[in-house]
Amino acid sequence: MSGKPDNAGAARNADDLGAARLDQLRQSLAAVKARIADACASAGRDPAEVRLLAVTKTFPAIDVAALIDLGLRDFAENKDQEGGAKAAEAARLRPDADVRWHMVGRLQRNKARTVVRWADEVQSVDSPRLADALGRAVANRIERGERSGPLDVQVQVSMDADPERGGCPSEDVPDLVKHIDQMSELSVTGLMTVAPIDADQDSVFARLQRLFHQVQRDFPGVVELSAGMSGDLERAVAHGSTCVRVGTALLGGRELASRG
Ligand SMILES: *Cc1c(COP(=O)(O)O)cnc(C)c1O
Repeated sequence: MSGKPDNAGAARNADDLGAARLDQLRQSLAAVKARIADACASAGRDPAEVRLLAVTKTFPAIDVAALIDLGLRDFAENKDQEGGAKAAEAARLRPDADVRWHMVGRLQRNKARTVVRWADEVQSVDSPRLADALGRAVANRIERGERSGPLDVQVQVSMDADPERGGCPSEDVPDLVKHIDQMSELSVTGLMTVAPIDADQDSVFARLQRLFHQVQRDFPGVVELSAGMSGDLERAVAHGSTCVRVGTALLGGRELASRG
């Protein structure tokens, strides 16, 4: 790639991955894009309406660099510590890339201060208390001159009230959106869900889409619907998803122990 010397290993090329891995990522990216395009065609939608978020959890920053080279700009992590470290490392590897990082995992309030340092958007806000903690963390950074604007957030909706995956019960979503809408430090841009594994995804995504439209009537700034992963992105796109979060289908299988 560039003819610049490798600074003590700090600046690496995606070539370091090996041609095989790069090729693998290129092919899986093409396959995922084709799936999104097919799903949009079936639904009569424009593929430009559906953003692809690469969920890079458990994979190294060098994979992020390769995906940046392949044209991706949106990356997601589900743990604060791993996300912070990887975003910093990816910024070292690709200093000129205009990358957006999304936090998509369960977030404890005591992580609010650290997550706002690296995440451009937090999709997993599921309680007023978490929203308030993020708001305080953002206000703090604004006061210290470390950021200028509000943090984009989405409300994570629980479609089956399983506390394991997190999420706000769907009947409480309008109140939570209203709560965040009144905060100057946060900007609520959408709804997110992780569909229950053994549910009828069609009916889950259809219910989510109805809730999305209902919330939009009062809050027109709520424009994003983050739904669909490797296994169910077609059904999510059929029900209006504007953002699919894809890990396995892009990067390969994860170790079971680190799955989250
Ligand atoms: C891991 C994860 C994904 C991606 O899941 P895959 O099935 O690997 O595509 C999407 N959303 C969240 C919240 C995740 O934690």
